[in-house]
Amino acid sequence: MQILVLNSGSSSLKHQLFALSDGELTKLDRGSIECIGEGNAQVHCHADALALVFEQLERASECDPRELVGIGHRVVHGGDLFDHPVLIDDRVIRGIREAIPLAPLHNPPALAGIDAARTLRPDLPQVAVFDTAFHQTLPSHALRYALPAWCYEKYGIRRYGMHGISHAFVSRRAAELLDRQPADVNVITFHLGNGASAAAIAGGRCVETSMGMTPLEGLVMGTRCGDLDPSVPMFLYREAGMTVAEVDRLLSHDSGLKGLCGSNDLRAILQRAKRGHSDAELALQIYCHRLKKYLGAYFAILGRVDAVVFTAGVGENSPEIRRSACDGLDLIGIRLDEERNLAVRRGQASDVSANGSPVRVFVIPTDEEAEIARRSLEVMGLDSTEHPPRKKPSL
Ligand code: AMP
Repeated sequence: MQILVLNSGSSSLKHQLFALSDGELTKLDRGSIECIGEGNAQVHCHADALALVFEQLERASECDPRELVGIGHRVVHGGDLFDHPVLIDDRVIRGIREAIPLAPLHNPPALAGIDAARTLRPDLPQVAVFDTAFHQTLPSHALRYALPAWCYEKYGIRRYGMHGISHAFVSRRAAELLDRQPADVNVITFHLGNGASAAAIAGGRCVETSMGMTPLEGLVMGTRCGDLDPSVPMFLYREAGMTVAEVDRLLSHDSGLKGLCGSNDLRAILQRAKRGHSDAELALQIYCHRLKKYLGAYFAILGRVDAVVFTAGVGENSPEIRRSACDGLDLIGIRLDEERNLAVRRGQASDVSANGSPVRVFVIPTDEEAEIARRSLEVMGLDSTEHPPRKKPSL
Protein backbone atom coordinates (compact mmCIF):
# COMPACT_ATOMS: atom_id res chain seq x y z
CA MET A 1 0.00 0.00 0.00
CA GLN A 2 1.09 3.57 -0.62
CA ILE A 3 0.59 6.86 1.20
CA LEU A 4 1.15 10.39 -0.06
CA VAL A 5 2.46 13.10 2.28
CA LEU A 6 1.82 16.75 1.43
CA ASN A 7 3.44 19.86 2.87
CA SER A 8 1.64 22.93 1.51
CA GLY A 9 3.43 26.27 1.85
CA SER A 10 2.20 29.70 0.83
CA SER A 11 3.65 29.35 -2.67
CA SER A 12 4.87 25.76 -2.69
CA LEU A 13 3.65 22.19 -2.56
CA LYS A 14 6.04 19.47 -1.47
CA HIS A 15 5.13 15.82 -1.72
CA GLN A 16 6.60 12.47 -0.79
CA LEU A 17 5.15 9.11 -1.68
CA PHE A 18 5.81 6.09 0.56
CA ALA A 19 5.12 2.38 0.28
CA LEU A 20 4.42 0.33 3.40
CA SER A 21 5.30 -3.30 3.25
CA ASP A 22 5.98 -5.69 6.16
CA GLY A 23 5.98 -2.74 8.58
CA GLU A 24 8.77 -0.96 6.66
CA LEU A 25 8.26 2.39 4.97
CA THR A 26 10.06 2.98 1.68
CA LYS A 27 10.27 6.35 -0.05
CA LEU A 28 9.14 6.03 -3.67
CA ASP A 29 9.02 9.57 -4.91
CA ARG A 30 9.47 13.14 -3.74
CA GLY A 31 9.11 16.52 -5.36
CA SER A 32 8.39 20.17 -4.91
CA ILE A 33 6.42 22.68 -6.93
CA GLU A 34 7.48 26.25 -6.19
CA CYS A 35 6.22 29.74 -7.05
CA ILE A 36 2.53 28.75 -7.01
CA GLY A 37 0.42 31.75 -8.00
CA GLU A 38 3.42 34.05 -8.34
CA GLY A 39 3.88 36.45 -11.30
CA ASN A 40 3.59 34.51 -14.53
CA ALA A 41 3.72 31.10 -12.84
CA GLN A 42 2.10 28.27 -14.77
CA VAL A 43 0.64 26.77 -11.63
CA HIS A 44 -1.94 29.16 -10.23
CA CYS A 45 -3.14 27.45 -7.06
CA HIS A 46 -2.63 24.42 -4.82
CA ALA A 47 -5.34 22.50 -6.70
CA ASP A 48 -3.41 22.90 -10.01
CA ALA A 49 -0.19 21.90 -8.25
CA LEU A 50 -1.72 18.76 -6.77
CA ALA A 51 -3.25 17.78 -10.11
CA LEU A 52 0.27 18.03 -11.55
CA VAL A 53 1.66 15.87 -8.75
CA PHE A 54 -0.91 13.15 -9.50
CA GLU A 55 -0.16 13.35 -13.23
CA GLN A 56 3.56 12.92 -12.54
CA LEU A 57 2.96 10.06 -10.10
CA GLU A 58 0.80 8.22 -12.58
CA ARG A 59 3.52 8.53 -15.21
CA ALA A 60 6.25 7.29 -12.84
CA SER A 61 6.56 3.55 -13.12
CA GLU A 62 7.01 2.68 -9.43
CA CYS A 63 3.84 4.52 -8.37
CA ASP A 64 0.55 2.77 -8.66
CA PRO A 65 -2.35 5.08 -7.82
CA ARG A 66 -4.55 2.06 -7.12
CA GLU A 67 -2.23 1.28 -4.20
CA LEU A 68 -2.74 4.71 -2.64
CA VAL A 69 -4.67 4.39 0.64
CA GLY A 70 -4.62 7.97 1.92
CA ILE A 71 -3.01 11.38 2.13
CA GLY A 72 -1.21 12.80 5.18
CA HIS A 73 -1.00 16.58 5.51
CA ARG A 74 1.48 18.52 7.57
CA VAL A 75 -0.34 21.23 9.52
CA VAL A 76 1.77 23.64 11.54
CA HIS A 77 -0.69 24.79 14.19
CA GLY A 78 -3.39 22.76 15.88
CA GLY A 79 -3.95 25.30 18.67
CA ASP A 80 -5.41 23.77 21.83
CA LEU A 81 -7.65 21.46 19.85
CA PHE A 82 -5.38 18.75 18.51
CA ASP A 83 -2.97 16.69 20.56
CA HIS A 84 -2.66 13.89 18.03
CA PRO A 85 -3.12 13.32 14.28
CA VAL A 86 -6.74 13.17 13.12
CA LEU A 87 -8.80 12.07 10.15
CA ILE A 88 -9.91 15.21 8.38
CA ASP A 89 -13.60 16.08 8.34
CA ASP A 90 -15.44 19.41 8.37
CA ARG A 91 -14.99 19.75 12.13
CA VAL A 92 -11.22 19.35 11.80
CA ILE A 93 -11.14 21.92 8.99
CA ARG A 94 -12.99 24.35 11.29
CA GLY A 95 -10.42 23.67 14.03
CA ILE A 96 -7.47 24.36 11.71
CA ARG A 97 -9.21 27.53 10.56
CA GLU A 98 -9.72 28.62 14.18
CA ALA A 99 -5.97 28.34 14.73
CA ILE A 100 -5.17 30.72 11.81
CA PRO A 101 -4.53 33.72 14.11
CA LEU A 102 -1.78 31.63 15.76
CA ALA A 103 -0.15 30.68 12.44
CA PRO A 104 -1.37 33.20 9.86
CA LEU A 105 1.34 32.30 7.34
CA HIS A 106 1.14 28.52 7.69
CA ASN A 107 -2.39 27.30 8.35
CA PRO A 108 -4.09 28.97 5.32
CA PRO A 109 -1.85 27.18 2.76
CA ALA A 110 -2.28 23.91 4.67
CA LEU A 111 -6.05 24.36 4.32
CA ALA A 112 -5.60 25.08 0.60
CA GLY A 113 -3.67 21.82 0.22
CA ILE A 114 -6.29 19.87 2.17
CA ASP A 115 -9.09 21.40 0.14
CA ALA A 116 -7.33 20.53 -3.12
CA ALA A 117 -6.73 16.94 -1.99
CA ARG A 118 -10.29 16.42 -0.78
CA THR A 119 -11.65 17.78 -4.06
CA LEU A 120 -9.30 15.79 -6.27
CA ARG A 121 -9.41 12.53 -4.33
CA PRO A 122 -12.64 12.46 -2.27
CA ASP A 123 -12.31 8.66 -2.22
CA LEU A 124 -9.20 8.79 0.00
CA PRO A 125 -9.02 9.38 3.75
CA GLN A 126 -7.02 12.50 4.60
CA VAL A 127 -5.11 12.92 7.85
CA ALA A 128 -3.83 16.10 9.50
CA VAL A 129 -0.56 15.73 11.41
CA PHE A 130 0.22 18.78 13.55
CA ASP A 131 3.59 20.31 14.39
CA THR A 132 2.22 21.48 17.72
CA ALA A 133 0.58 18.20 18.81
CA PHE A 134 3.65 16.58 20.40
CA HIS A 135 3.96 19.58 22.73
CA GLN A 136 0.39 19.37 23.99
CA THR A 137 1.75 17.38 26.95
CA LEU A 138 3.50 20.50 28.31
CA PRO A 139 2.41 21.00 31.92
CA SER A 140 0.60 24.26 32.79
CA HIS A 141 3.68 25.70 34.44
CA ALA A 142 5.60 25.33 31.16
CA LEU A 143 2.88 26.37 28.75
CA ARG A 144 1.57 29.47 30.56
CA TYR A 145 3.25 32.87 30.33
CA ALA A 146 3.33 35.01 33.48
CA LEU A 147 0.50 37.17 32.15
CA PRO A 148 -2.98 37.78 33.57
CA ALA A 149 -5.28 34.80 33.12
CA TRP A 150 -7.54 36.62 30.63
CA CYS A 151 -4.71 36.69 28.06
CA TYR A 152 -4.81 32.90 28.09
CA GLU A 153 -8.52 32.41 28.58
CA LYS A 154 -9.77 35.00 26.07
CA TYR A 155 -6.99 34.96 23.46
CA GLY A 156 -5.25 31.61 23.88
CA ILE A 157 -1.93 33.31 24.61
CA ARG A 158 0.24 30.43 25.79
CA ARG A 159 3.24 28.45 24.64
CA TYR A 160 2.47 25.83 21.97
CA GLY A 161 5.87 24.83 20.55
CA MET A 162 6.60 23.73 16.97
CA HIS A 163 8.75 21.14 15.13
CA GLY A 164 6.89 18.51 17.16
CA ILE A 165 6.88 16.02 14.29
CA SER A 166 10.67 16.10 14.22
CA HIS A 167 11.17 16.08 18.01
CA ALA A 168 8.82 13.08 18.28
CA PHE A 169 10.63 11.20 15.50
CA VAL A 170 14.20 11.72 16.72
CA SER A 171 13.38 11.15 20.40
CA ARG A 172 11.86 7.78 19.53
CA ARG A 173 14.90 6.92 17.43
CA ALA A 174 17.11 7.87 20.38
CA ALA A 175 15.25 5.34 22.55
CA GLU A 176 15.85 2.72 19.84
CA LEU A 177 19.56 3.55 19.79
CA LEU A 178 19.62 3.14 23.57
CA ASP A 179 17.78 -0.16 23.12
CA ARG A 180 15.06 0.99 25.52
CA GLN A 181 11.39 1.91 25.36
CA PRO A 182 10.60 5.62 24.86
CA ALA A 183 8.74 5.53 28.19
CA ASP A 184 12.01 4.68 29.95
CA VAL A 185 14.23 7.44 28.59
CA ASN A 186 14.71 11.16 29.12
CA VAL A 187 16.01 13.03 26.10
CA ILE A 188 16.90 16.59 25.13
CA THR A 189 16.42 17.15 21.38
CA PHE A 190 17.78 20.02 19.30
CA HIS A 191 16.16 20.56 15.91
CA LEU A 192 18.64 23.01 14.37
CA GLY A 193 17.63 24.03 10.87
CA ASN A 194 16.87 27.47 9.52
CA GLY A 195 14.17 27.43 12.18
CA ALA A 196 15.46 25.93 15.43
CA SER A 197 13.99 24.59 18.63
CA ALA A 198 14.82 22.40 21.61
CA ALA A 199 12.63 20.02 23.57
CA ALA A 200 12.90 18.25 26.93
CA ILE A 201 11.20 14.86 26.69
CA ALA A 202 10.55 12.75 29.79
CA GLY A 203 9.50 9.16 29.14
CA GLY A 204 8.25 9.97 25.64
CA ARG A 205 6.25 13.04 26.74
CA CYS A 206 7.38 16.55 25.93
CA VAL A 207 7.63 18.60 29.14
CA GLU A 208 9.33 21.75 27.83
CA THR A 209 10.16 23.28 24.47
CA SER A 210 11.80 26.47 23.31
CA MET A 211 9.30 27.85 20.79
CA GLY A 212 6.31 29.61 22.27
CA MET A 213 2.99 30.90 21.04
CA THR A 214 4.77 31.44 17.73
CA PRO A 215 8.08 30.13 16.35
CA LEU A 216 9.83 33.36 17.37
CA GLU A 217 10.69 32.36 20.93
CA GLY A 218 13.74 30.40 21.99
CA LEU A 219 16.97 29.63 20.18
CA VAL A 220 18.81 31.92 17.78
CA MET A 221 17.60 30.94 14.28
CA GLY A 222 18.49 31.71 10.69
CA THR A 223 16.46 34.91 10.56
CA ARG A 224 14.48 34.89 13.86
CA CYS A 225 15.85 36.48 17.01
CA GLY A 226 14.57 33.90 19.52
CA ASP A 227 14.41 35.02 23.17
CA LEU A 228 14.25 38.77 23.58
CA ASP A 229 13.27 41.22 26.31
CA PRO A 230 9.56 41.80 25.51
CA SER A 231 10.12 45.56 25.89
CA VAL A 232 12.36 45.74 22.84
CA PRO A 233 9.46 46.04 20.32
CA MET A 234 7.93 48.90 22.37
CA PHE A 235 11.31 50.61 22.50
CA LEU A 236 11.61 50.31 18.71
CA TYR A 237 8.11 51.79 18.18
CA ARG A 238 8.95 54.69 20.47
CA GLU A 239 12.56 55.45 19.76
CA ALA A 240 13.07 54.22 16.19
CA GLY A 241 9.58 55.20 14.96
CA MET A 242 9.03 51.74 13.50
CA THR A 243 5.58 50.37 12.70
CA VAL A 244 4.16 47.05 13.98
CA ALA A 245 4.76 45.49 10.55
CA GLU A 246 8.35 46.74 10.44
CA VAL A 247 9.18 45.37 13.89
CA ASP A 248 7.49 42.09 13.00
CA ARG A 249 9.65 41.85 9.90
CA LEU A 250 12.79 42.79 11.80
CA LEU A 251 12.33 40.11 14.47
CA SER A 252 11.18 37.30 12.16
CA HIS A 253 13.06 37.89 8.92
CA ASP A 254 16.03 40.18 9.52
CA SER A 255 17.34 39.02 12.89
CA GLY A 256 18.96 35.80 14.13
CA LEU A 257 22.17 34.83 12.33
CA LYS A 258 21.24 37.01 9.36
CA GLY A 259 20.80 40.07 11.55
CA LEU A 260 24.03 39.43 13.39
CA CYS A 261 26.30 38.83 10.42
CA GLY A 262 24.35 39.24 7.18
CA SER A 263 23.84 35.54 6.35
CA ASN A 264 21.55 32.79 7.59
CA ASP A 265 23.58 30.05 5.90
CA LEU A 266 25.57 28.46 8.68
CA ARG A 267 28.11 26.98 6.26
CA ALA A 268 28.99 30.44 4.94
CA ILE A 269 29.12 31.84 8.49
CA LEU A 270 31.54 29.12 9.62
CA GLN A 271 33.80 29.89 6.65
CA ARG A 272 33.74 33.62 7.31
CA ALA A 273 34.50 33.01 10.99
CA LYS A 274 37.49 30.85 9.99
CA ARG A 275 38.76 33.76 7.90
CA GLY A 276 38.57 35.96 11.01
CA HIS A 277 35.40 38.01 10.36
CA SER A 278 34.45 39.17 13.83
CA ASP A 279 30.69 39.54 13.12
CA ALA A 280 30.54 35.88 12.01
CA GLU A 281 32.54 34.81 15.09
CA LEU A 282 30.19 36.71 17.38
CA ALA A 283 27.10 35.30 15.64
CA LEU A 284 28.36 31.75 16.25
CA GLN A 285 29.18 32.54 19.87
CA ILE A 286 25.69 33.92 20.51
CA TYR A 287 24.10 30.93 18.71
CA CYS A 288 26.05 28.37 20.77
CA HIS A 289 25.70 30.28 24.05
CA ARG A 290 21.91 30.07 23.64
CA LEU A 291 22.12 26.33 22.88
CA LYS A 292 24.12 25.75 26.03
CA LYS A 293 21.72 27.83 28.11
CA TYR A 294 18.82 25.63 26.98
CA LEU A 295 20.83 22.45 27.45
CA GLY A 296 21.54 23.39 31.07
CA ALA A 297 17.96 24.48 31.75
CA TYR A 298 16.47 21.29 30.30
CA PHE A 299 18.93 19.23 32.30
CA ALA A 300 17.65 20.88 35.45
CA ILE A 301 14.04 20.24 34.43
CA LEU A 302 14.54 16.57 33.53
CA GLY A 303 16.85 15.70 36.43
CA ARG A 304 18.18 12.65 34.64
CA VAL A 305 19.15 12.82 30.96
CA ASP A 306 19.94 9.70 28.93
CA ALA A 307 20.70 11.36 25.59
CA VAL A 308 21.10 14.65 23.81
CA VAL A 309 20.09 14.59 20.14
CA PHE A 310 21.14 16.93 17.34
CA THR A 311 19.09 16.98 14.14
CA ALA A 312 18.14 19.02 11.01
CA GLY A 313 20.48 20.92 8.64
CA VAL A 314 22.84 22.38 11.26
CA GLY A 315 22.46 19.68 13.92
CA GLU A 316 23.17 16.86 11.48
CA ASN A 317 25.95 18.53 9.52
CA SER A 318 27.96 20.81 11.76
CA PRO A 319 30.51 19.20 14.09
CA GLU A 320 31.59 22.72 15.10
CA ILE A 321 28.18 23.63 16.51
CA ARG A 322 27.78 20.27 18.30
CA ARG A 323 31.26 20.70 19.80
CA SER A 324 30.60 24.23 21.03
CA ALA A 325 27.18 23.35 22.47
CA CYS A 326 28.60 20.43 24.46
CA ASP A 327 31.93 22.02 25.35
CA GLY A 328 32.78 22.08 29.06
CA LEU A 329 29.79 20.00 30.16
CA ASP A 330 31.74 17.02 31.59
CA LEU A 331 30.40 17.89 35.01
CA ILE A 332 26.85 17.07 33.95
CA GLY A 333 27.96 13.94 32.14
CA ILE A 334 28.20 15.13 28.54
CA ARG A 335 31.43 14.07 26.89
CA LEU A 336 31.83 14.32 23.14
CA ASP A 337 34.31 12.18 21.22
CA GLU A 338 35.90 14.54 18.72
CA GLU A 339 36.83 11.82 16.24
CA ARG A 340 33.29 10.45 16.22
CA ASN A 341 31.90 13.97 16.01
CA LEU A 342 33.95 14.64 12.88
CA ALA A 343 33.21 11.24 11.33
CA VAL A 344 29.39 11.57 11.19
CA ARG A 345 28.16 10.47 7.78
CA ARG A 346 25.27 12.30 6.12
CA GLY A 347 21.98 10.49 6.56
CA GLN A 348 23.24 8.08 9.22
CA ALA A 349 22.44 8.02 12.91
CA SER A 350 25.63 8.33 14.96
CA ASP A 351 26.69 8.18 18.58
CA VAL A 352 29.26 10.94 18.98
CA SER A 353 29.77 10.63 22.73
CA ALA A 354 32.94 9.33 24.33
CA ASN A 355 33.02 5.81 25.71
CA GLY A 356 31.62 5.91 29.22
CA SER A 357 29.89 9.27 28.77
CA PRO A 358 26.92 9.08 31.18
CA VAL A 359 24.82 11.05 28.68
CA ARG A 360 24.91 9.77 25.11
CA VAL A 361 25.10 12.38 22.36
CA PHE A 362 23.41 11.32 19.13
CA VAL A 363 23.21 12.81 15.67
CA ILE A 364 19.95 11.56 14.19
CA PRO A 365 18.72 12.53 10.71
CA THR A 366 15.18 13.72 11.04
CA ASP A 367 12.49 12.46 8.66
CA GLU A 368 9.35 14.46 9.21
CA GLU A 369 7.62 13.10 6.11
CA ALA A 370 8.15 9.49 7.19
CA GLU A 371 6.76 10.41 10.61
CA ILE A 372 3.69 11.99 8.95
CA ALA A 373 3.24 8.89 6.77
CA ARG A 374 3.53 6.55 9.75
CA ARG A 375 1.15 8.58 11.96
CA SER A 376 -1.36 8.91 9.11
CA LEU A 377 -1.41 5.17 8.50
CA GLU A 378 -1.93 4.61 12.24
CA VAL A 379 -4.91 6.97 12.28
CA MET A 380 -6.36 5.14 9.30
CA GLY A 381 -5.94 1.88 11.19
CA LEU A 382 -3.58 0.56 8.53
CA ASP A 383 -0.38 0.39 10.55
CA SER A 384 -0.91 -1.38 13.82
CA THR A 385 2.80 -1.65 14.57
CA GLU A 386 2.99 1.65 16.38
CA HIS A 387 6.73 1.39 16.75
CA PRO A 388 7.61 -1.29 14.25
CA PRO A 389 9.97 -3.98 15.47
CA ARG A 390 13.15 -2.68 13.96
CA LYS A 391 16.53 -4.16 14.41
CA LYS A 392 18.57 -1.95 16.71
CA PRO A 393 20.16 0.41 14.17
CA SER A 394 23.88 0.05 13.80
CA LEU A 395 25.81 3.17 14.72
P1 AMP B 1 17.23 23.01 7.33
O1 AMP B 1 16.26 24.13 7.64
O2 AMP B 1 17.07 21.82 8.21
O3 AMP B 1 17.29 22.66 5.87
O4 AMP B 1 18.69 23.58 7.68
C1 AMP B 1 19.24 24.69 7.01
C2 AMP B 1 20.52 25.13 7.72
O5 AMP B 1 21.43 24.02 7.77
C3 AMP B 1 21.25 26.28 7.02
O6 AMP B 1 21.68 27.23 7.97
C4 AMP B 1 22.45 25.59 6.41
O7 AMP B 1 23.55 26.47 6.30
C5 AMP B 1 22.73 24.51 7.45
N1 AMP B 1 23.59 23.46 6.90
C6 AMP B 1 23.30 22.61 5.89
N2 AMP B 1 24.40 21.84 5.63
C7 AMP B 1 25.37 22.23 6.49
C8 AMP B 1 26.73 21.83 6.72
N3 AMP B 1 27.33 20.88 5.99
N4 AMP B 1 27.42 22.46 7.72
C9 AMP B 1 26.84 23.43 8.45
N5 AMP B 1 25.57 23.84 8.27
C10 AMP B 1 24.85 23.26 7.31
